[in-house]
Amino acid sequence: MLGREDMITLMQVPLLDLKAQYQSIKQEVDRAMSEVVAGQKFILGPEVEAFEFEMAKYSGARYALGVSSGTDALILCLMCEQIGPGDEVIVPAYSFFATAGVVARMGATPVFADIDPETYNLDANAIKSKITAKTKAIIPVHLFGQTADMVPVLALAQKHNLIVIEDAAQAIGAEYDKRQAGTMGHFGCLSFFPTKNLGAFGDAGMVLTNDAKRYQALKILRVHGAEPKYVHALIGGNFRLDALQAAVLRVKLKHLDIWSAKRMENAREYQKLFLESGLVGNFIGLPVRRFTRHVYNQYIIRVKQRDELTQHLKNFGVGYEIYYPKTLPLQECFSHLKHRKGDFPESEQAARETLALPIYPELSKNQLEYVVQTISDFYKRVK
Ligand SMILES: *Cc1c(COP(=O)(O)O)cnc(C)c1O
Repeated sequence: MLGREDMITLMQVPLLDLKAQYQSIKQEVDRAMSEVVAGQKFILGPEVEAFEFEMAKYSGARYALGVSSGTDALILCLMCEQIGPGDEVIVPAYSFFATAGVVARMGATPVFADIDPETYNLDANAIKSKITAKTKAIIPVHLFGQTADMVPVLALAQKHNLIVIEDAAQAIGAEYDKRQAGTMGHFGCLSFFPTKNLGAFGDAGMVLTNDAKRYQALKILRVHGAEPKYVHALIGGNFRLDALQAAVLRVKLKHLDIWSAKRMENAREYQKLFLESGLVGNFIGLPVRRFTRHVYNQYIIRVKQRDELTQHLKNFGVGYEIYYPKTLPLQECFSHLKHRKGDFPESEQAARETLALPIYPELSKNQLEYVVQTISDFYKRVK
């Protein structure tokens, strides 16, 4: 039902439009893929090595290892440090499931810590009280495209001799004091899941590290722990990256900084439009950019009356998503850890209030205006 205030034309603004991105690089990508097909070398090989070389250069990490997914990148780092039963790993209570899932899969215990409500990332003060004699590692997540506040995290890790595995799945190219996400800890994990800022045509991921020994160990663990072939001092797995994915990613990497710049431009435009709308402070909260380079994998606002608003967005063709509706400690699979509602208040509030809006690089100014107008119309009605 369109009211008098909905004079604007109905538009469709999807949360993400991967077809638009593909159209803009179709010739390059198709050529790169057909070269791999012609060569029939599909697993690891020169294409993967070239991509690893280019990613090490891009990120500033000494070593980059292409792997099968972001989740597998995290698992590999835990394997590399032989983290298992009896060990504890500190993770944020609010993240994508994989951050905690990998710890449990290794037989270790995920120990949750609450987040900073401005950045949605681990709060260093919350970590402190979670460190015990069993703590082996911390996994700070750089959620939504902005890094965690790493100085206090790294200081705590150093003081207590803990491994730092950065989950940079959503933050490729993000910066913290001139250092890139994924290059500050012992390991950095990237995901090339199609919806990430650098997305493959399937699953893919990467581990970054500055440590030669760790790099060698990761490389062996990636191929079942074999070194040389058929000789196994370690048990690894199949964590290899496909050459076809590497070929796609090499093409896309050349465009990444332009795409990231467009995401930042869209975020600035949203900020301007939302401030003009008069909604900020009363009905919605805008993202806070605390560190130098926020790459906006997601544009996250906090909203009042989220259920009603999302229904309205659906009616008016605006894509959205809720990352994440439930905190990790309250997931059924972690019920044996006996966490209760109220244990992680900032994470729980984020789970209740946050909403992701379309921010992808190919969005037009009209589309951004339409999104803000649609949200404005909703709050005008309920006022
Ligand atoms: C996407 C994501 C992962 C997992 O990456 P996959 O490539 O999907 O396995 C891990 N952590 C976070 C925070 C993510 O967003």
